[in-house]
Amino acid sequence: MNDSPRQLVLASRNAKKIAEMRDLLDPHGIAVTSVADHDGVPEVVEDGDTFAANAAKKAAEVARHLGAWAIGEDSGLSVAALGGRPGVYSARFAGEDATDDANNAKLVAELEGVPDTKRAAHYTCHVALADPQGEIVLTVEARCRGRIVSEPRGGNGFGYDPYFLLPEWGKTFGELSPLVKRCLSHRARAFGRFVPQLVRLFRS
Ligand code: IMP
Repeated sequence: MNDSPRQLVLASRNAKKIAEMRDLLDPHGIAVTSVADHDGVPEVVEDGDTFAANAAKKAAEVARHLGAWAIGEDSGLSVAALGGRPGVYSARFAGEDATDDANNAKLVAELEGVPDTKRAAHYTCHVALADPQGEIVLTVEARCRGRIVSEPRGGNGFGYDPYFLLPEWGKTFGELSPLVKRCLSHRARAFGRFVPQLVRLFRS
């Protein structure tokens, strides 16, 4: 990829997610800009029913606007005891423009009284690649399974991470180092499968 002149744009304005995605792409020599680095890119309305639909929409709209290859990523938390919510509404669980604290407070309140054994949850990450015409040419989805705890633990990560426990580690993503999250997370798993396909595509 080092010899590739192709510009690749991340269709996200979430600084924490952008940092995680850059960390996952950098070791492969894949340099990206984000929409925040380009003036006048319109906000993408995330009105899809699925992570796949939202990721594709982000990638396609940004690609078309900039005439560049674009990566769309949509992710979220699904809690079994809540029938899979918040799911695609994870960022706005507590309302439009909700803060992480507000979303977490709602999560804790909705799970009050639910025993540990019934707190299974998973994160999903869907990644889509659009060509400069806005056609989706690559998609990958991956999950990371865990459990929701009732007290926040640790200050790493973002969003629901202080409440998302990885049972096999006995720690939340808030407690685990960014390096460990970079190996285990839904985003890590999705990019682990996405990157080799992207490299092959750009070499072909
Ligand atoms: P999106 O920007 O619409 O994809 O929203 C993703 C939302 O899902 C974030 O705002 C978080 O609430 C949640 N989320 C996704 N990935 C993570 C993660 O790695 N840790 C914590 N929360 C996450």
